[in-house]
Amino acid sequence: MIALLSITAAPACRGSDRPAGARAGAPASAAAAATRVTRTPFGTLPDATPVELFTLTNRQGVELRAMTFGGIILSLRVPDRQGRSDDIVLGYESAADYARGNGPYFGAIIGRYGNRIANGRFTLDGTLYTLATNNGPNHLHGGVRGFDKVTWRGEPIPEGVAFTYTSADGEEGYPGTLTARVTYTLTDRNELAVDYEATTDKPTIVNLTQHTYFNLAGQGSRDVLDHLMQIDADRYTPVDATLIPTGELSPVAGTALDFRQPTTIGKRIGEEHPQLRSGLGYDHNFVLTRSGEGLQHAARVTEPSTGRTLDVATTEPGLQFYSGNFLDGTITGKGGRVYQKRYGFCLESQHFPDSPNKPAFPSTILRPGQTYRSRTVFTFGVAK
Ligand code: BGC
Repeated sequence: MIALLSITAAPACRGSDRPAGARAGAPASAAAAATRVTRTPFGTLPDATPVELFTLTNRQGVELRAMTFGGIILSLRVPDRQGRSDDIVLGYESAADYARGNGPYFGAIIGRYGNRIANGRFTLDGTLYTLATNNGPNHLHGGVRGFDKVTWRGEPIPEGVAFTYTSADGEEGYPGTLTARVTYTLTDRNELAVDYEATTDKPTIVNLTQHTYFNLAGQGSRDVLDHLMQIDADRYTPVDATLIPTGELSPVAGTALDFRQPTTIGKRIGEEHPQLRSGLGYDHNFVLTRSGEGLQHAARVTEPSTGRTLDVATTEPGLQFYSGNFLDGTITGKGGRVYQKRYGFCLESQHFPDSPNKPAFPSTILRPGQTYRSRTVFTFGVAK
């Protein structure tokens, strides 16, 4: 419990005035920036809503494409150790495909609440709120029309794009008008920073994340079981059969969830661990080992055949490692590639699932006058 309290202190991002990396108020001109940002029309949704595309290209050959629908990262081209670029994220070709596809949150901004809330219910200041139950008995990723399925306003900013969205009081059952701003910026050091900010006019709950599925060998090429995963977590939050945390923080030591040393995703995924059975593989929130507040390293992934590496750093207390267990070959994505089981993995920085019903977990409550701030940086490289 002592360690849990130290985690509670970490996300002072609620209500603090610590500067975010979001560059709010920065001039819209990207002239001096190393990363080129372009803005182009990207077709329409089935209901005729126009969609815009933002393309960020740095001088190292990294190119990210993101659109206003869902703030979705459509593609991310990154060189391998031979300098060959490939798209390392799963997804569809067009905005309409995403709107129609009922895809599993490919590349999207997730909100208001990333991951699950038990039975779609929580009590805040004595009032019971009821949310959609869109995942068995539970609420998942913001509901039926979460932030992944709304159209954001996009603006270029230096080295990136800012997406803003105002979620109405009562939307998807959540209290308060929530004004959210999420930026993607790409540097010449191959860092993709995702900065989140939100304010509210009534007490509410917030837990924003990003749901990109990575495959460092190239999207749609094969499964991710040979990727080496390393996560800076001594503990995780075990879940019940519906993937709701039991409330415990359990040690990873001696279990298939111990990724403190780089280990292939596939090595132990088939073990008879009850937690792997609940998740059909890895689908767990890791309690990041933090020393104080701020941005800290959380995970490193290496793909041996291409040498591509991904480092994740975050200000959040948790990281959901999801090994794409529910992909099942029924989705045909970009380039006609069929996404089979475990063809991608997600590393979702977050507060712990079901925090609104777990008073001992770090709080996800946001009150008027406070600003929610969260930052996650994905750094791409190559191993020699
Ligand atoms: C969840 C999975 C879920 C997936 C949706 C992940 O964040 O942890 O359980 O199936 O999102 O694609």
